[in-house]
Amino acid sequence: METIRIASTKSGKRLPYVVTDNPPRGGMKYTYFAPDRSYVIQFYNNPADADYNTRSRIEAIIGRYNPTLSEAKGGAIGTDESLAAYWARRYCWPSDIIVSPEFGIVCPAYPKNFFFDSAASDVLNLFGKDKKSNWFTSSNRKFLHKAELGDFRSALACAVLLARSVRRLHQAGLAHSDLSNNNVLIDPTSGDSCIIDIDSLVVPGLYPPEVAGTRGYIAPEVVATMELDRRDPRRVYPSAKTDLHALAVLIYEYLFYRHPLIGPKINSGISAEEDDRNSLGKNALFIEHPTDSSNRPKTLSAGVESAGFLLQKLFERAFIDGLHTPSLRPSALEWERGLVRSFELLQKCGNRSCERKWFINDSSICPFCGHDNSGENIILSFHNDVHSNPGEYRKIFSTVAADNTPLFCWHFSPGIIPDEKTDRTLTAYIIRHGEDWFLVNSRLHGLVSPEGKILPPGRACRLYDGCTLLSANGVLIDVKI
Ligand SMILES: [Zn+2]
Repeated sequence: METIRIASTKSGKRLPYVVTDNPPRGGMKYTYFAPDRSYVIQFYNNPADADYNTRSRIEAIIGRYNPTLSEAKGGAIGTDESLAAYWARRYCWPSDIIVSPEFGIVCPAYPKNFFFDSAASDVLNLFGKDKKSNWFTSSNRKFLHKAELGDFRSALACAVLLARSVRRLHQAGLAHSDLSNNNVLIDPTSGDSCIIDIDSLVVPGLYPPEVAGTRGYIAPEVVATMELDRRDPRRVYPSAKTDLHALAVLIYEYLFYRHPLIGPKINSGISAEEDDRNSLGKNALFIEHPTDSSNRPKTLSAGVESAGFLLQKLFERAFIDGLHTPSLRPSALEWERGLVRSFELLQKCGNRSCERKWFINDSSICPFCGHDNSGENIILSFHNDVHSNPGEYRKIFSTVAADNTPLFCWHFSPGIIPDEKTDRTLTAYIIRHGEDWFLVNSRLHGLVSPEGKILPPGRACRLYDGCTLLSANGVLIDVKI
């Protein structure tokens, strides 16, 4: 039986919603949809949970901490309309407070690409269900339609956007507090990600929410102290540092489809619950620990090194150095930058039956299928001049380029690392004619070709092994073919 009711919001809107008998219910709230499903309205399972502290926190989240609303409209400082639109695709951020019939929040509907379409519905009847990360990273994956699965490149893209979204929260002093495969939607077909359940954010200076967290994503120090009394000073609560554990777990799952800590090691013979608590808490051990193999699964396809050197180092910091020492965990900014740099090193695998389709070119051999991809790509390395020693250059990063690879401002300007504000207008591109490779300059002024001549916009130059180009900003580009 469906009935339409009207909710009044704090901003003065009157929003219709469809009341159903069994609304979707989470740990804290239940949800009703707008008649056209363009927004949802959520009320608290226990209205007493919507106390003064919760209301103050949600007001701050919807107002001064809101990156999806421009500063001019009351949102976060420094946010213009275009940035607000960017972040509105990255978060399902609450947009208003319901004041009647009872306290609740209004959230926009998830973008359409985060729902399974009909192509995916054949095995599990998933049509219309939201794409929570765990569909793609757990054993459920084998039931999904091939068209939904994406590849290594799109998994890396999801990870970049997630790291960026978490970095934006942390920059503002916020912490999500319950990042998990339930609270992040991903669309591996497009490489898109979206953080949901934003109302449990930890806001500076306000009482934190009581969040239980999600098994497998709660940081070991939180799991290990959960049994202590809430007033015990040794008890650890969710924070930006614990978000960083969850972020690393999610990224690892996106790239490898397995959990980094859940292995064969038994950490308590007393009960399954205690074993679980120890294995994810005080005794947590990375399944790929290089010197302690006691938690290593018998079969482990593609080890952590398959993600390339940059990400391997970040995973080792997260799951070895920082697993029980939160201050050593990589920040979200470090993850974002490591992932962005790794994205530049992606190479398409020439093996048509390669399951992952793309890999990080630390060498030409695909780590997922063993195919040798030599000769399919060229590598451009970008170097910055060392101010203290003119004429000396230091490598900043490399890009693996194939036919039609675009190049952007960050390839030719030292210090630019692409983020949400970066100009993504095409600057130059690489093309291949038979065995010959060319760089076509689209809009760079002052680019010097391998022959030492200015290459004006609209012109191309041939690239050969060992040649160098120089940008007007002093970036030296060397070419390996
Ligand atoms: Zn391959």
